[in-house]
Order: sequence, then structure tokens, then C-alpha cells
Amino acid sequence: MKKKIAILGSTGSIGKSTLEVIKKDKKNFDVVLLTANNNYKKLIQQAKEFKVKNVLIKNNSFYSKVKNSLKKTKTKVFSAETNLGSIFSGKLDYTMSAIVGVAGLQPTVDAIKFSKTIAIANKETIICGWEILSKHLKKHKTKMLPIDSEHFSILELTKNVNNEAIDEIIITASGGPFLNIPKKKMINVKPEEATKHPNWKMGKKISVDSANLMNKVFEVIEATKIFNFNKKKYRIVIHPQSYVHSIVRFRNGLIKMILYNTDMKIPISNTLYSYKGENYQKKTKMIDTNTLNKMTFLNVDTKRFPSLKLIDKCLNSGRLTPTIVNASNEVLVDLFLAKKIGFLDIVKTINKIFKDKEFKKYAKRNPRSLKDVEMVDNWARLKTLSMCVR
Ligand code: NDP
Repeated sequence: MKKKIAILGSTGSIGKSTLEVIKKDKKNFDVVLLTANNNYKKLIQQAKEFKVKNVLIKNNSFYSKVKNSLKKTKTKVFSAETNLGSIFSGKLDYTMSAIVGVAGLQPTVDAIKFSKTIAIANKETIICGWEILSKHLKKHKTKMLPIDSEHFSILELTKNVNNEAIDEIIITASGGPFLNIPKKKMINVKPEEATKHPNWKMGKKISVDSANLMNKVFEVIEATKIFNFNKKKYRIVIHPQSYVHSIVRFRNGLIKMILYNTDMKIPISNTLYSYKGENYQKKTKMIDTNTLNKMTFLNVDTKRFPSLKLIDKCLNSGRLTPTIVNASNEVLVDLFLAKKIGFLDIVKTINKIFKDKEFKKYAKRNPRSLKDVEMVDNWARLKTLSMCVR
């Protein structure tokens, strides 16, 4: 039987990589839902190429364009108002959650209800809404698989391992495009430079997050949410080649690491094939000794990357602190990409929000529903904007 697949955010970097994997084995997959925000042309092309049953375009100004282009096909077209949960009656085999930002939270919650397995690339959703997601995962008996390469690797390394068996979990960071430039030059870096990641081809937002290491702040929070290991066990180490994705040091003296090329199709295909116990198999090249010989590891210089000091603050100042930091960061990254603020202003402004007199009130709330997360997210967005507009 063909596997029924949905991709939320199919026009982005992760969404396209997922479709590339499926394209190589089309006879075994039935793509039943794709979603996009603005890139209606790509969505139409994907719908035709994969004979997709349903597509949803979030930005309503493009709805009629998508509808008209697909009117001679069997594809149903849905708009932003559609509740994803209303499209399917039975359960799909696999959904990829690959929308960028907290905008992916509600669609991911909806998708949990109609998916046997949900693969989550959208880390903002995990860090802001894990309390809600985990309840829905349990209620609907949906399996969650992390796609972020570090978390995918930690999961592989720690199968059947408990907290007591582990001393340390290292999440590697490439250091991004500014690892070696003089620090004072970081003041004037442009969006084009910040989005040019040395090893990975990714969407703009995560590329900026990788350039100032906010991405690592989010990844540690993400790990503390999805794994039951003590939060003090996580450490970030710079590994410029990005070949090693995570390292675990066990109490029995063993250290294990997972290595693979910088290609997100590797974690994606492993989750697409292995969630049912199948083994993903692909012809791979011999291990290149040159690559192994060039591997280096460095401690993080927090003067260059002050963002990393936010990790402790995020983990210890209230359950909704990650939501506040994420919302503030989303606003600031957009402002930076629009050339309205400088690169270093991103982390500086996030730090300011911790000093706001209302911060504690919002950070300490208990996130019982999506509405709670939304309310705090809105407060942080408005507060951040007010700090930037002079
Ligand atoms: P992209 O920016 O390339 O793609 C984002 C996708 O989300 C697009 O399909 C976009 O649609 C859609 N989208 C954007 N805004 C909205 C919205 N408001 N409502 C609905 N859909 C929206 O991002 P990436 O693929 O790089 O990243 C996706 C997620 O995966 C992020 O959370 C990122 O942190 C995570 N991730 C990415 C990795 C990578 O290698 N790229 C690695 C690990 C994690 P449209 O194209 O129409 O605008």
C-alpha cells in the first residue's frame, strides 16, 4: 500500500527536500496534502508534478490563482480559513511539519490528529508549544520524530538509554559565516552575508539564526523539551565542518557520535522509511579519510556569540520564556532582513526584553492552550517592535 504523506510548508527548503526524497520512489507514496504561504507558483508546480489530492495556500491573495491553475486537475484547493483537521477523516501515515516560525504551531497540532507519525522540522513549534503538542501526541497516539539533524542524531544515539547512563550531550554548531571574521566587523554585516551559510542551504530565517547561534539556543531548548535528560547535560561545541551532528558521552566511558554529510535528505529519508521499522537503504560512498582528518572542534567564544548566554535564561525564567524569546527573535530577524536594524541588535534587543517590567508576568504563565501561547507571543512581538521603533 502506498504511504499517505502530507507536507506543511512544502515550498521551503525542508519541504522541497522531502519531495525530492519522495520523487525517487513515487510508486510508494501518495502525497495527499501540501501547504504554502506565498509561493503559489511552486505550490502549483508541486501539485501537478505529484498529482497531489489537496493543497492549502495560506495567503488568501493567491487563492484564486492556485484554484484557477488547478481547475483541470483533481486537486482540491483550500484557503487559510480551512481547518486542516477537516480535510481528512482517516489517519495519514506521515506528516512533515516544515513551516518556519510559530506560525506552524496550529497546523502542527491539527496534523497530529490526522497523522500516525509526525516528523517535526519546525523547531519554533516545539520550543513554544511542546506542552500542548505532547498532550495531543498522547491523546491521538501519534509518533513524533525530530528532523533537526542534531535531535535526529541524539534520538539515534540514545535509544533505550536513560538519563543516569549519560554524562554529557554535545550539540555541534558550524559557527556560521562569521566564525572567523573580526568581531567588530559583525556590526555591519548585511543580510546577504548572514544568509550565506558555509555548509547548509536553508531558508533565510534559520540561516540568520545560525549566523548568530540563536539556532543553537533554540536547539538546546528543543532538546530539553523532547528528551527526558537533565537539561544541564547539554553543551554546544563548534565543529566548522558540520559532519558530526551530536556527541553523547556515556557514564560507562564510551563516547558515541553521529556523522553524516550536510544533507537534510538524510534525516528526512530515514524518518520517511524507518518509522514503520523498515530500514532506509541507499548506496553511499566510502568514508572519505580526508573529511575525517579535517574535523575540528572548538569551545564557543561567548564574546563573539553572546546569544548562548540566553540558554540558561530561557531554561530558568518561566515556562513561556522560550515563546517570548522566539517571538522577539522572529520580529528582529524580519527587521534585520529588511535592513531596519543591525545584525548585533538582534541579540541585544532580546536581552532587553528580559528587563521589561511585564516580562515575568508573561514568562511565568502556564501554557494550557494555544491561546496562552498566542497571547504571550503577541505581547513579545509588540514589545520588541516598540523597542525598535524610534
Ligand atoms: P523556509 O523559509 O525555506 O520555508 C518555510 C516554509 O513555510 C515555506 O513553505 C513557506 O511558504 C511556509 N510558511 C512561511 N510562513 C508561513 C505562514 N505564516 N503560514 C504558513 N506557512 C508559512 O524554511 P526552512 O525549510 O529552512 O525551515 C523550516 C523549518 O525547519 C524551520 O523551523 C527551521 O528552523 C527548521 N529546520 C530547517 C532546516 C533546513 O536545513 N532548512 C534544518 C533543521 C530545521 P512560502 O514558501 O509560500 O513562503
